[in-house]
Amino acid sequence: MSATTHTDRLCLSCLDDLPRELFIGGKWSPANDHRQLASLRPSTGDTLATVAHADATDVARAVAAAGAAGRPGSRWHRMSPAARSRLLHRVGDLILAHADRLALLDCLDNGKPLRVARAGDVPAAAAVFHYMAGWPGRLNGENVSIFTGNPERHLAMTVPEPVGVVAAIIPWNFPLYMAAAKVAPALAAGCTVVLKPAEQTPLSALLLAQLAQEAGLPPGVLNVVTGDAATGAALAAQPGVDKVTFTGSTEVGRSIVRAAAVDFRRVTLELGGKSPNIVFGDADLPQAMDGAAHAIFYNQGETCVAGSRLYVQRQVFDEVVAGIRERAAAIRVGDGLDRDTDMGPLISAEHRARVMSYLHSARAGGAQVTGGHAPDSPGFFCTPAVVTGADPQAPVVREEIFGPVLVAQPFDTAEEAVALANDSPYGLAAGVFTRDLGLAQQVGRRLRAGTVWVNSWHVLDPALPFGGMRGSGWGREMGRAGVDAFLETKTLVNDLGTRPWGTASAPR
Ligand code: NAP
Ligand code: MG
Repeated sequence: MSATTHTDRLCLSCLDDLPRELFIGGKWSPANDHRQLASLRPSTGDTLATVAHADATDVARAVAAAGAAGRPGSRWHRMSPAARSRLLHRVGDLILAHADRLALLDCLDNGKPLRVARAGDVPAAAAVFHYMAGWPGRLNGENVSIFTGNPERHLAMTVPEPVGVVAAIIPWNFPLYMAAAKVAPALAAGCTVVLKPAEQTPLSALLLAQLAQEAGLPPGVLNVVTGDAATGAALAAQPGVDKVTFTGSTEVGRSIVRAAAVDFRRVTLELGGKSPNIVFGDADLPQAMDGAAHAIFYNQGETCVAGSRLYVQRQVFDEVVAGIRERAAAIRVGDGLDRDTDMGPLISAEHRARVMSYLHSARAGGAQVTGGHAPDSPGFFCTPAVVTGADPQAPVVREEIFGPVLVAQPFDTAEEAVALANDSPYGLAAGVFTRDLGLAQQVGRRLRAGTVWVNSWHVLDPALPFGGMRGSGWGREMGRAGVDAFLETKTLVNDLGTRPWGTASAPR
């Protein structure tokens, strides 16, 4: 599809007046050396827009602005919890008010279907702000009885304090939602933020910054630096950053930890996954087939929690796999602007080549692969693939592909299914399909995963802690745990100078 049809022109008008510069200290400014970065439109391969390309000097400027905005005595520091809460609500409201434009931006920039962005990503981003708006007034410390001291003399308490300047580095798969998931809890905790969107999808973060400003966020509380991997690396290593919150690949997560080790800055990591989905023979099979297809193919398979490893009890294996193959073949792959599209293109030509290489090596290793074709047309499209008969040690089974590739394997007993599911360096999400809810509990408790879904998948909510075990990361986002991740606990002990009762002199 070329970028010149009438619908395209209408849709591309969402770019009109969109800020393309760096948002630092409440002002838009070009990059230090005026460099630009192109973001592509994955459904055509054309350049969609160019934005400023921040270097280390720009990053330092943004971190300094964030530091100044959160300093004791600053407007943000003095702001009442009620006012902070109102601000977060206003940002959520503005996201909903601009939902069509935000959805279009993510559709064009990332490739995902417009109706998915409009019904999923955008309301989810608003919900995070609305949910987090409930926290500022509830972040109370405790009055602590000193175990070994005199309770009348010592008044001891814990005081939750914002961790400080937060560097938020996000990937391209849910551009607006990821930005919201980092920014809203950090602001709820009273932190200030420098946000670095992925180079493939910088646009909705720029509009979010504009909306936050319109909501009344004081200058410097949220800063956005667009750029590439070097920009992210500069931000993760910049002195003045107190905490790095990162979502992305395990490899980059490792380099963030190395950078953080220099001064022990706080780190939260949401990394990759290779999430197992277990279907027992007694499951509602059409529901399990729908669930398994949704688990892997939603968002082009470009989700960290994609249910990419399917384990099916042997007696229903052929039936379930056939049902999923049918569902995969019915998925309409196309331009995200097209109302009929179920699945958009992958994010880039390089990423598609990587996905195809897994399928190529699976075929070469004797596995049966259906789907997984790259149409000979512009854009980075790839049809959904289902793989059976792969060597359990093959890369297609063990490694995160981050694309629409499902690998299915049979099992006989629940014990075997759990052992297969847990045999992975990752531990992000897992699923169980069965009518036996007692069995689901037993299996769910044994799975090494941060989230376990029973007879469902992709049910995420701002109130539910989200994160991974093992190689899938450190810490949790969302829920109370997600706010705590942006707080330090201070212990404050007051010696009141009280003498034992009866020895005190009467007040004069
Ligand atoms: P990525 O390469 O790790 O990039 C993520 C972000 O880090 C981008 O903003 C990237 O900038 C930046 N970055 C790259 N190199 C950096 C460095 N050395 N130091 C600091 N920042 C750096 O990941 P991706 O390919 O965009 O995203 C896919 C990965 O994200 C998958 O592995 C997936 O599982 C994971 N993911 C995890 C979750 C979760 O919640 N657990 C959610 C979504 C995705 P540029 O884009 O400009 O290079
Ligand atoms: Mg793009």
